Amino acid sequence: MNEFDIIERYFRFSPPSANAPVSIGDDAAIVDSRGPLAITVDTLTAGVHFPEDARPADIGHKALAVNLSDLAAMGATPRWFTLALTLPASDPDWLADFSSGLKALANRYGIRLIGGDTTRGPLSITIQAIGSAPPGGAVLRAGARPGDDIHVTGSLGDAALGLRIHRGEARLDPNLERLCLERLHAPEPRVRAGEALAPLASAMIDCSDGFAADLGHVLSASGVSAVVDFAALPFSSAVRRWLDDGGEPALPLTGGDDYELIFTAPPSAREAIATVAESLSLPVSRVGRITPEGGLKIMADGRPLVLQQRGHDHFRADGERP
Ligand code: ADP
Ligand code: MG
Repeated sequence: MNEFDIIERYFRFSPPSANAPVSIGDDAAIVDSRGPLAITVDTLTAGVHFPEDARPADIGHKALAVNLSDLAAMGATPRWFTLALTLPASDPDWLADFSSGLKALANRYGIRLIGGDTTRGPLSITIQAIGSAPPGGAVLRAGARPGDDIHVTGSLGDAALGLRIHRGEARLDPNLERLCLERLHAPEPRVRAGEALAPLASAMIDCSDGFAADLGHVLSASGVSAVVDFAALPFSSAVRRWLDDGGEPALPLTGGDDYELIFTAPPSAREAIATVAESLSLPVSRVGRITPEGGLKIMADGRPLVLQQRGHDHFRADGERP
């Protein structure tokens, strides 16, 4: 298979659309956005962002999921994406599986693959995703104000625990292990939640580097502080079991790859947020509040928890990833 066969067979899967009249097959794609766009790009590298032995369908899913999560954190609606793929070989089984994982997630959120680049080298996947900013404007990190509540979607720490399980460093009941591994390998981006919360949130970020680190980004950008109640944080039955068995509370606070949304909103929005949560069947937990000063305090049993580090940093020597 040559480069063009690969593109035709595995990546021309999005139906043509009126607002992307030129896509795969020309020198550049043409889109008609009719409004402000949110644009994001993320690279996934084998051995850094996913284990070398990950299923190709999961790699395809995750490469798009992390970008959709960034769009969600702005409250944007996914529209188009491009794919720059570096492959060690043209393996049809690998490509078919990768393409199926990618396509399934793309179709779920109506985002169209409109172009890319295909080269040979060590496995690396770069996706650029483009979305429409929400009508009332994108939700930035800088909008949190003292008195706002802090909320989190879904649950925290499952992927970090999944990574421990994957490495053989943690054991749980098989069904709990499955839940964590699923969250690690195939996270579900909170696209619909991001759109629905955009008119309600004062600030928003997706949780990719760890809850403490990502909330920290919101606090710095907004010039505010926060008090978080550890007991109010949303943990799955897997993380709860692991904590009950003596696991360290820092793991779900600093482990990365959750892809949940952390957002702030004034208390007057509580009822509307509960309605969104119910309509999406997605739990949204109120975990703390924004304060004028004092830094980030995570209170457990009346005392602030001391974290050695807030989250993942690629350029720190002990960065924890697969
Ligand atoms: P060019 O030489 O003009 O850069 P390429 O040969 O790289 O064009 O790509 C040919 C066409 O296929 C372009 O429209 C490009 O956007 C598209 N394309 C290449 N690789 C991919 C890919 N992995 N996924 C989707 N589209 C791709
Ligand atoms: Mg090219």
